[in-house]
Amino acid sequence: MAEISIRSVTKSYDDTVACRNVSLEVENGQLAVLLGPSGAGKTTLLKTITGELTPDSGEIFVSGQLVSSPQTMLPPARRHLGAVMQEGVLWPHLTVEKHLELVAKNADKVGEILELLSLDKLRRRYPDQLSGGEKQRLSLARALAAGRKVLLLDEPLANLDRPLVIELMRDLQRLRGGARARPCSWSHTSRRTPCSSLTRWPS
Ligand code: ADP
Repeated sequence: MAEISIRSVTKSYDDTVACRNVSLEVENGQLAVLLGPSGAGKTTLLKTITGELTPDSGEIFVSGQLVSSPQTMLPPARRHLGAVMQEGVLWPHLTVEKHLELVAKNADKVGEILELLSLDKLRRRYPDQLSGGEKQRLSLARALAAGRKVLLLDEPLANLDRPLVIELMRDLQRLRGGARARPCSWSHTSRRTPCSSLTRWPS
C-alpha cells in the first residue's frame, strides 16, 4: 500500500489552475521529489496533502486513509504528517532545545537530533540568534523530533548559499540512511535542468 496516494488532484485559485489532474504514489520508505519552476504548483500540492488547502477535485490518501477530497478534509493535526513549509514559523520565545522538547514523543531523541543537525552547540539560543541556515535546520529538527512517519519538505534548500546547501543535503542524506524518519516528499524549484540539483548528492 502506498504511504501517500494522490489521485487526480486539481486545485485552482480563482482563474489560476495551480495543480491540474495530478496523480502520484509514494511508497513507504521512498523519497519523492517534486521538481519544477517557480509557480508550477509544488507548494500548492504539498498544502493539499497537509490539509491547509482543499482540492477542487480528486482524492489524497495517507497510509490508506482518505484525508483530502472536496467532501472530506481531515484536520491537519489528525494527519500525523511532519512538514517543513517555506513560511515555517519558529517560536521566538523558545530556545532551540525547547522547540524540539515541545513536540518530541521521545525525549531521548532530542539530543540525538540536535547533534545530527549540528545544532547541539546552539541549543540554548533563541531563533533571532540564529543564521538563516541554522533556522532552516531547526525547522527540520523540529519536524524530525515530532517523529512522524511521513515528512514533507517544501524547498528545504531555498535561500541558502552553496556551502549550506551542501551541508543540509548531507544532513538529509544521513537522515535517509537512518531509521528515525522517512523524508517522503520534497518540493524543489529547479533553476537549471530538472533533476540536476537533487539526484547528484555531494560526494
Ligand atoms: P510553486 O510552489 O511551484 O512555486 P505554487 O504552488 O506556490 O507554486 O503556486 C502555483 C500557482 O498558484 C502560481 O501561479 C501562484 O501564483 C498561484 N498561487 C499560489 N498561491 C496563491 C494564492 N494564495 N492565491 C492566488 N494564487 C496563488
